Amino acid sequence: MELVERDHPGTVRRHLSTEEAAAVRRFCGDGQQVRPEDVGLVEAVLEEMHDGRHVRLWLECDCVRAPGGRPRLTARVREDGPRHFVRMHQYGEHHCALASFRQTPEPENVGPDGDCAWPGQHNPLRPVADALDYLNDLHEGSARPGGPTGSGGGLGERGRRLPRLGRILHTLLEDAGFARLHVDALNDRSRSWERLEAYAADQALSPQLSLSQILYFKPWTPLNEKMTEVDALAWPKRKARSALLLFVADELRAGTAIKKTSVGEYVVRPEKGIRAGGRDQRLTQPPYWVLSVIDRDRDGNARVREAFAQHAYSFARPVPMDSRYERVTLKLLFDVMAWVKRHGVEVTLWKPLFDREVRQTDAPSQWCRPDFELTFRSVAATGVPARLHRVVIETMGADDPDYLERKSRTQEIMKRRGILIEHWVAVDAAQKERDDAFFRRVAAKILHLAGVPQTRPV
Ligand SMILES: [Zn+2]
Repeated sequence: MELVERDHPGTVRRHLSTEEAAAVRRFCGDGQQVRPEDVGLVEAVLEEMHDGRHVRLWLECDCVRAPGGRPRLTARVREDGPRHFVRMHQYGEHHCALASFRQTPEPENVGPDGDCAWPGQHNPLRPVADALDYLNDLHEGSARPGGPTGSGGGLGERGRRLPRLGRILHTLLEDAGFARLHVDALNDRSRSWERLEAYAADQALSPQLSLSQILYFKPWTPLNEKMTEVDALAWPKRKARSALLLFVADELRAGTAIKKTSVGEYVVRPEKGIRAGGRDQRLTQPPYWVLSVIDRDRDGNARVREAFAQHAYSFARPVPMDSRYERVTLKLLFDVMAWVKRHGVEVTLWKPLFDREVRQTDAPSQWCRPDFELTFRSVAATGVPARLHRVVIETMGADDPDYLERKSRTQEIMKRRGILIEHWVAVDAAQKERDDAFFRRVAAKILHLAGVPQTRPV
């Protein structure tokens, strides 16, 4: 195996040692047994490939000899998660142990799904590891609509199982950068599908199939036209032919998703209805992210099979959310970000769509999923490296008692991720007062942690 320069793939940086290559194959080959020493070797290779901000090197596998036809792996960092390998399907399939790929070995001693006896120690909710898994296996789709989450699905800290389509939507939104917003992007008016198009163009499901050939963003494209295109594509074996439609809907009404344009309304009507993510199933405050699966029914007719919807903050800033209560919190957080920026503090807002790890030195990691996280650095003091701070925000809406109970148990874990601040949201006359207090508290906490001399927020 060789490390090649990403920008000049013809240039070999170095050959992996026999031990390193074997470690990568054991670590990422599904069904392989990992040795304790493999983990350190794999982490070191990943660090060479990805410097934390950018991919510098690709790993080229020597299991295929054909020049130009050698399979490659790249490295990715998601949010604050660990670096990991990603298969690059466009460069061909492996003939080695990596033909069955896994991103990371399953951790040992992980309780069965749903075992929440110890808060935070459940099987964590993770992104879809491989773009090929965006497609259903043959015969799976019609038999198990919206089916199980598959490996890495987990129950999630919220205690609600996320359907497979929801996991795909969350993975797309996270990887394309919609779950993260730097203060400078608050006034960015670039169109969301342009960002998604650029992202999809870089993702491949096979040497012949790019994500941009199956993921599309215009609900007015006739279903027949889309499926005729799909029929003509070289398709991965054992996968059902389908397309994914992703857009921000103006309204959800009676099992349909509606996109309004200057020339009329386009109605997306999934045969098996629309499922919704988050704890708030009252879908009365648009807009919504909607991801639909387009395929052919038994008679060969093109149809929208199923869809999954998620609250979005607004068309201009479609940050995904779990409830309409979070919209109230998010508006205030945007105001805080703009306000502290005037004092020199640049905040990045994160909407965690998957569980976040809290590492412990003497015990297994715990997992939690805060509603929002704000990160920022101390303002530069001479000679002192600017420290990274994290404030964790929880929206406390008028939720069911079970939910609040679960939440109080995971708050202890969240407090280990950062300073925890709660925002209570209810529809009553006192909300304005609560909002003002929340704004002052968050702003003051950020300025304090960043080392800005205190000014009273107005
Ligand atoms: Zn290989």
